[in-house]
Amino acid sequence: MLNSLRGLLVTLKTFVGKPVTAQYPTWHLPVQESYMGFPVLTWDAKVGEPYCVACMVCIRMCPTQCMSATMKDNPLHKEGKSHRRKMVESFAINLGRCIVCGICEEVCAFDAITMSHIHEMGTFARNGRRVEMDRLLELGKGYQKESGWRPPTELEKEKQAALKAAQPATATATAEAAGGSPVASPAPKDGAS
Ligand code: SF4
Ligand code: SF4
Repeated sequence: MLNSLRGLLVTLKTFVGKPVTAQYPTWHLPVQESYMGFPVLTWDAKVGEPYCVACMVCIRMCPTQCMSATMKDNPLHKEGKSHRRKMVESFAINLGRCIVCGICEEVCAFDAITMSHIHEMGTFARNGRRVEMDRLLELGKGYQKESGWRPPTELEKEKQAALKAAQPATATATAEAAGGSPVASPAPKDGAS
């Protein structure tokens, strides 16, 4: 009897409590900053062209072979406006086959592809999730704006520069704390070498 009342109490509490589930698709919960959705192409707004140079590395490394691309000469390079000699002419990803592994982003040395927050691209067509370059760039621009995306190589350079700048100060502070010179090293003991 007591156990039945306890069970009823739990049921009543759940009945009057706040719902913990979301009524998808009418209610979309926000995703976390670190959420990894479908890959998109990034746009270099400084030059006015995609970062992608169609080097094909991501295409070769993609485990599901769901990407394709073609390359062309970059007209902006000839005009001296871009450092990219080659650029992407066409690019497509069949998101229906993408397993969101992030390898394409990992292997790209040009900051040209990134895992976005996009995860809702359902369609009734068999091949309806094949996304072409223009759409991938459009999605990329949206993601760059929304997330404040910056090129990972630029961020890494800044990190390395900050570390380098901090090194002499750290060495001096350590040497001062030890009461010696920052460049002084202990003399080798006899027969140590
Ligand atoms: S996204 Fe990166 S790795 Fe893939 S083709 Fe473009 S530049 Fe190469
Ligand atoms: S996330 Fe993985 S499966 Fe999807 S396109 Fe990139 S490499 Fe291919």
